[in-house]
Amino acid sequence: MIKEKTESEIKEKTEEEKCFMPVYNRLPLEISHGEGVYLFTKDGRKLLDMFGGLAVNVMGYDNKKVNGAIAEQCKKYIHLSNNYYQETQIQFAKLILELSGFDKIFLCSSGTEGIEGSIKFVRKYFSSQNIQKTGLISFKGAFHGRTYGSLSLTTKDKYRNGFEPFLPDVKHLEYNNADQLEQNIDKNTAAVFLEFIQGEGGVNTASKEFVDKLEELKNKFGFLIVADCIQCGAGRTGKFISLQHYSNKDIADICVCAKGIGAGLPLGAILMKERISEKLHKGEHGTTFGGNAVACAAGIVVMNELKNGLMNKVTETGNYLKSELEKIKLVTGKIKEIRGIGLMLGIQLIDCDAQKTADALLEKNILVNVTGDNVIRLLPPLIIENEDIDLFISELKNSLS
Ligand code: PLP
Repeated sequence: MIKEKTESEIKEKTEEEKCFMPVYNRLPLEISHGEGVYLFTKDGRKLLDMFGGLAVNVMGYDNKKVNGAIAEQCKKYIHLSNNYYQETQIQFAKLILELSGFDKIFLCSSGTEGIEGSIKFVRKYFSSQNIQKTGLISFKGAFHGRTYGSLSLTTKDKYRNGFEPFLPDVKHLEYNNADQLEQNIDKNTAAVFLEFIQGEGGVNTASKEFVDKLEELKNKFGFLIVADCIQCGAGRTGKFISLQHYSNKDIADICVCAKGIGAGLPLGAILMKERISEKLHKGEHGTTFGGNAVACAAGIVVMNELKNGLMNKVTETGNYLKSELEKIKLVTGKIKEIRGIGLMLGIQLIDCDAQKTADALLEKNILVNVTGDNVIRLLPPLIIENEDIDLFISELKNSLS
């Protein structure tokens, strides 16, 4: 059981209910500030954040480099319209293109906006060549966002029910089912949208065989592949984007990043091959806030940190976390499977409810998230240290025992 709510928590809850559309399931916590990988509450609790603002707070809280870069940029300007060249945008773009291996970029402000843009770019790629291809494919368990194009690709009923009609000509296929892929792809297929590691779906990794089949079919039918690396990008898996773990890492024509790339500021990036970008012309796409200078300044820090050792550290700490989890699996017998790569891990439980375990962990001042089919999802800040992991492991072991 979560401890009794304090008077001010109750007050804050009521105030929130008076003002907000009731779409968020908020935790009974009043956060005052954060430091490193810890959040502090007004009533003095110190919480280890294994959720990282849903994969956003990659540099943790109160990071001096991020704060410094933001302050410096604010002194110059906070916003310029995209009618102007912006040095901060260009510096950020060069770094993210280098890390991802793509040719061109369009900057936006969120994940779903990146997916929407990608759908437009797919359409334009074919229409500009008078090629009739309109079919879009995504996979069961996928989460691509909540605006109309993205929601047409997002598959869970709980996000879709009541919001129909969606984009026509969209198929939702089984993740990692190469046969079904083969049966459903044809010359009308314009694009396949794929999370190489599904987050919301329960931390599922695309199998090598599945990705190989996708490449084979792409070569045969000439559709595009859009990699959704919104959650599994920004160095979270020990590579900049998760598709870099595959031998066919150049398979995607477009890749969308968001969440962690702005260290907590709203920033999204649609990365693409030149043959996509050359099909769009002045005025055919745009945004007011996309590529905001302050967000890009924070993004430059993230890119530089990843380049200069943070990505390797993610591999090390991720391996450590996974190996410690494997030990708990053996000792408790309560874990069915540990999935994921680097610091994007899912713990599928058996014989106990993931939400109850998450509640028990919250009582012990550990923040985790529950997703998919009874899965505890871990997305801590990338700067987490082994000693923080030890604390998490010991509390998880206690709550499962
Ligand atoms: N795609 C994936 C894989 C995500 O995890 C999310 C958000 O959780 C989105 C798309 C949507 O991003 P946003 O919430 O920034 O619109």
